[in-house]
Amino acid sequence: MRVVFHEAFHASDYSEDKYDNAADPGRLAGIMEALRVEGRYGVDVPAPATRADLLRGHSEAYVADIEGKPKLFAMASLAAGAAIHAADLAVRGESAFACVRPPGHHASRSSAWGHCTFSNVALALLKLRDAGLIRSAFVVDFDLHTGDGTIDVLRGWPEAQVFNPYGDNAAEYLRLFEQRLQAAPQVDILAVSAGFDAYLHDLGRKLGTEDYFTIGRLLQAYAIRLGHQRRFAVMEGGYFIPDLGKNVLAFCRGFE
Ligand SMILES: [Zn+2]
Repeated sequence: MRVVFHEAFHASDYSEDKYDNAADPGRLAGIMEALRVEGRYGVDVPAPATRADLLRGHSEAYVADIEGKPKLFAMASLAAGAAIHAADLAVRGESAFACVRPPGHHASRSSAWGHCTFSNVALALLKLRDAGLIRSAFVVDFDLHTGDGTIDVLRGWPEAQVFNPYGDNAAEYLRLFEQRLQAAPQVDILAVSAGFDAYLHDLGRKLGTEDYFTIGRLLQAYAIRLGHQRRFAVMEGGYFIPDLGKNVLAFCRGFE
């Protein structure tokens, strides 16, 4: 598995919203440190998404609006570019995790909320589809919050399904998760919106570190069942900074 990351993602001054927890200083540092210590994942440096890449999923007016905020535009274009890079690795048979911000799953065609700007995962899938590399996709979004933006941007592409797992507690969550994956369709690629805010000490107060390993392993098993094993994940939410590194690492160890 490869990690897709750019040093620019360490910057925390890209957002004009002072309540933007995704932009908290140091938020990605612990993740990259944990992955570096693990030592088994090479790091790829992504390029920003092009305007054409952004326009596959967003309206001209929306993209122009973000362009009016140069720091945000630069960071969000790079996040979308990292997702595209991860998807490109996946389609060639190498699993990948893109460690990015801002997140993307609340970014719809012409608006966004929840600290998101561009619909990273959806843009990556649309690019593969338009290049003729895939015809179908299954998106698993295990962030605490529903990926309404991903759903919106992928609307009109019936062969791209989005699954947001749920459950009142960790045991039920994992049981339903496994059940859904057992019944998941045969698709050309698995895309994962990896949010870590359902964590015990985060907003969701539900999942433990070992549960993130299990989630990764169940997704890996699904990809293996698909035959081609194509899979990539992109960082979404997760705000309890002290444990983000170990939770992301646990997921990666399962998913790799
Ligand atoms: Zn969330």
